[in-house]
Amino acid sequence: MNGVVNLWSEIKGAQGTAARMLDIFTVPEEPKSSGLRKEEIQNGDIVFENVSFSYGDKQVIHDLNAVFPQGKTTAIVGRCGSGKTTLLSMIERLYVPASGRITIGGKNVAEYDLSSYRDHFAYVQQDAGIFGGSLRQAMTYGIQREVGEGELKEAAEKTGILSLVQGLEGGFDAALSTSGGSVSGGQRQRIVLSRELIKNRPVLLLDEPTSALDAMSALMIQQKIFELFPGTTKIMIIHDLRMLSRVDHVVFMENGRVRDSGKHRELMQRCESYRTLVSCEEGVSA
Ligand code: ADP
Repeated sequence: MNGVVNLWSEIKGAQGTAARMLDIFTVPEEPKSSGLRKEEIQNGDIVFENVSFSYGDKQVIHDLNAVFPQGKTTAIVGRCGSGKTTLLSMIERLYVPASGRITIGGKNVAEYDLSSYRDHFAYVQQDAGIFGGSLRQAMTYGIQREVGEGELKEAAEKTGILSLVQGLEGGFDAALSTSGGSVSGGQRQRIVLSRELIKNRPVLLLDEPTSALDAMSALMIQQKIFELFPGTTKIMIIHDLRMLSRVDHVVFMENGRVRDSGKHRELMQRCESYRTLVSCEEGVSA
């Protein structure tokens, strides 16, 4: 009976997976090879000019203006549902503005060939996705060139996972289980940081990079982000508002609009709803 029940749950699981795969296969492919090439991307400030966007008939971004300065760290802050993730996705061109435009270095991002444009960005998510395979594969996923042993070692050392690698049988060729379950959340995030370090892209997008971690690991990852990517334009949605004192610029969102932007301490002085949000979060984390 046990065997039959297990088999039945496997069949149902596979059915769900197959349905999801079919959904993905029927999504129209994005146009990739037209527009300006990678070499032509002018690094510079990323600017939203009167951008609006809707999911179906639900407008979530309203005539939004924002600047993400080149080489600086900008935090996108706001309550749940204020449009932060949508904004980050629009920078990556996962969504296209219904009106207005987004520019980088003064040029409309829509003018660039999509895959060349996306090569301009590195991305660190909330809960780092790692596929099953070797540590080497996890650290070089998406990098279309040979990555030497020395380069891997250097990245692992900088992100603090070299001792983990040395402790594993097979070193960089040690197998990770599917979704990286054989390493902790903090180690997974370090593996992803190593990969992004090797990629060395001009812009780093981070979506709540420490929210799935315990306090100690979160602190370490925060330090690594600032230490390892000093001249990179960093745009991050942050949940842990303790990071605010370290960022150069804050974009504070409310209901799909930028309520205010500037330095953390300026916003603390002049924007009451920002102060309320920060003090609420401090109360929660205390
Ligand atoms: P935040 O990151 O600040 O929590 P989001 O950008 O995720 O905000 O969402 C902004 C609004 O858009 C919310 O009201 C959310 O429900 C809606 N939304 C987000 N993603 C989708 C989607 N794929 N389809 C429809 N509505 C969405």
